[in-house]
Amino acid sequence: MSAPTAPGAAIGILGGGQLGRMLAHAAEQLGFDVHIYTDEEDSPAARVAARAVVADYHDHAALAAFARDVAVVTTEFENVPADAAAALIAAGAVVHPNPRALAIAQDRLEEKRFFAANGLTPAPFAPVETLDELRAALALIGCPAILKTRRLGYDGRGQARLESDRALEYAFAAFNGAPLILEGFCRFEREVSIIAARAADGAFAAYDLCENEHRGGVLARTNVPARCDPAIHVEAAAEARRLMDALDYVGVLTIEFFLMPGGTLIANEMAPRVHNSGHWTIEAALTSQFEQHIRAIAGWPLGATARLCDAEMENLIGEDAARWAALAADPTARLHLYGKREARAGRKMGHVTRLKR
Ligand code: AMP
Repeated sequence: MSAPTAPGAAIGILGGGQLGRMLAHAAEQLGFDVHIYTDEEDSPAARVAARAVVADYHDHAALAAFARDVAVVTTEFENVPADAAAALIAAGAVVHPNPRALAIAQDRLEEKRFFAANGLTPAPFAPVETLDELRAALALIGCPAILKTRRLGYDGRGQARLESDRALEYAFAAFNGAPLILEGFCRFEREVSIIAARAADGAFAAYDLCENEHRGGVLARTNVPARCDPAIHVEAAAEARRLMDALDYVGVLTIEFFLMPGGTLIANEMAPRVHNSGHWTIEAALTSQFEQHIRAIAGWPLGATARLCDAEMENLIGEDAARWAALAADPTARLHLYGKREARAGRKMGHVTRLKR
């Protein structure tokens, strides 16, 4: 087991978005410098970091130079190209989470197979590469079903709901030959997520289960604790621990589930990182998910995950952020703005946490 990374060292983060920005805040609080590597000019994370490199994720020379200056590298988005992680490791960097976790999370098919292999329950699924395979998969799984791209889908993008076996050619053609997965549609009671952390020595800690409300495929609101039997909280944490042990994972990982009417948890996807549904931990948990991730990757002891009170987190999407002055004047609202220059529709601009009881 390597020694903990001492304060004063630099932590490297791939990605320049709001998750990187909030990770940088937490790292700075623990005495670390943060170096951001992103392909985006003027990114939210770069503006709060000690140093920022703007370069392509396939630029191996730039990645090697970045690796030389930092004690450990982490990521704030899961679609880091596999060759970027490999180039960092070749240059001697310690990379958490490891490339295997990133690779599985980047492919919905691999992810569902991995869930099933570790005793989690995914929705019924089948790989689809041809129209004939789509017909066969739909006959097996039944309608309604959801056709998704295996890669690069997020926030409901890259998905089509199939209500019948008519017009399949049209639905299939819209994906332009990308490898696909067909999933059975789950009539869930609610959507929940578990945010958990694992340290290099196998220590594990999870936060209380979060209840998530999506609008148009994008997270709109999170409430903690999720309204469900305490046994479901325990089960979700046990499932997270199994996945993280199987991956020898270091850092924070999130699993999103559908909670079915009988109490079954259907594992929808995992994010090998801090997560939007965990933003409430900044104010309402003893250790925020951001600090927890920095602690884990720096080899520090995990922090306590106890929840201080019930909480609600509301995302500020697109023009919602124009309400900042009213929110700033609301004593019940804890306002976070990500410093994005432009409020595009569907873009996460900030969030508000309200503490209850
Ligand atoms: P995803 O990109 O897989 O996270 O999907 C985005 C949202 O679409 C989810 O949060 C659900 O609200 C919905 N969704 C995705 N897959 C399914 C499914 N198999 N059954 C029911 N709803 C789904």
